[in-house]
Amino acid sequence: MNIRFEQTFVNNLLGQVEMIDVMANYGVEVKRGQGLNHFYVAKFCCGKSDMDNGRIKIETQKFMCMNCWYGGNAIDFLRTVVGMSFYTAVVELARMANVELPVVDPKELESLKRKQDAFQLAATFYAEYENDYLVTRGIAKEVIEKHGVGYAPGGRALRSFLEGKGYTKEELLDYKLINSKGMDTLFHRAVIPVSRNGKIIDLYGRSINDENTSLKHLYIKGDNILGGIDQINPKHIVLLFEAAIDRLVAESHGVQNGVDAGGAGKFTKEHAKLLKRKGVKRVFIVYDGDAAGRKGSLKSGQLLSDEGMEVWVGELPEQMDPARMIMECGKDAFVSALQQPKTFEKFKMYQELSKYSLTDVEEYLKVMKLKQIFLGE
Ligand SMILES: [Zn+2]
Repeated sequence: MNIRFEQTFVNNLLGQVEMIDVMANYGVEVKRGQGLNHFYVAKFCCGKSDMDNGRIKIETQKFMCMNCWYGGNAIDFLRTVVGMSFYTAVVELARMANVELPVVDPKELESLKRKQDAFQLAATFYAEYENDYLVTRGIAKEVIEKHGVGYAPGGRALRSFLEGKGYTKEELLDYKLINSKGMDTLFHRAVIPVSRNGKIIDLYGRSINDENTSLKHLYIKGDNILGGIDQINPKHIVLLFEAAIDRLVAESHGVQNGVDAGGAGKFTKEHAKLLKRKGVKRVFIVYDGDAAGRKGSLKSGQLLSDEGMEVWVGELPEQMDPARMIMECGKDAFVSALQQPKTFEKFKMYQELSKYSLTDVEEYLKVMKLKQIFLGE
């Protein structure tokens, strides 16, 4: 078939299936490793029957035989080992990843690219505007510059700018960059771009005046974002914050390698899988010291554990969030509050136990029962 897939589609697709699963599906013996690599039996290239030579580098999801140096990605495997055409290999990966094949209509491709460009242009436009709000919240100038953080002046500033670049009102409305009244969607907000694989996929607008608005947080698209994902080093512990502000304040004070899902309850299974695909093995959850934060930690921690990651939960003092704690008590106080994190399993038990009152005999007996179940005591 004569169909060209967009390179970005193919790259994204490759990021959504695990090489080890592709091999296993086609009868190659595989073994999950605990470190940087998974293993496979290099029978198809060298006729070996042990796992001494076949390596899948988890970070890149590429395979390579240490005996003959034959290797590649999942598409290379399906083409050269299984014998598929490029087209069939892509279709097969899409099936495995449960991803819909793109409708390869050149007009549609063009309009997707226009939309992508509009978000990029909007981020660049907003980055030109400075506002002290984020600086007063404790975010360093270098961090603001590094992440292309800016400010939305509101009115029709962005609309005029993008119309000047050839976009129509209808397009901007469709992208949700302007509202039905024709005004910019982001109005008097600090703007933090959200990128994935080097492309701006969304814009987060943080209201700069908490008293004046019921809507502190506003995402243009708001679906499935994980702020900071492009910048993390998967080999180190990844910190999971509730909010972008927490992540950026922490980074400004030397606490690096954070991501945020834009809310305590917003972390999803997709996010957990995304981190896993990036090769992340250890996650430290640092949500706010309140009921929503604890509930979110339980949910996020479970999703991460289910993907086989090691998870810890740090607990901040009541009513403290990371940004506030760093600003009010200093970075050292923040770091020392997190010195003794609980493993996720332990955190879960404490949350369960906290539902009971130990001054009541009936409750005491229930707790004893729980201890038996959890701890075998
Ligand atoms: Zn080989």
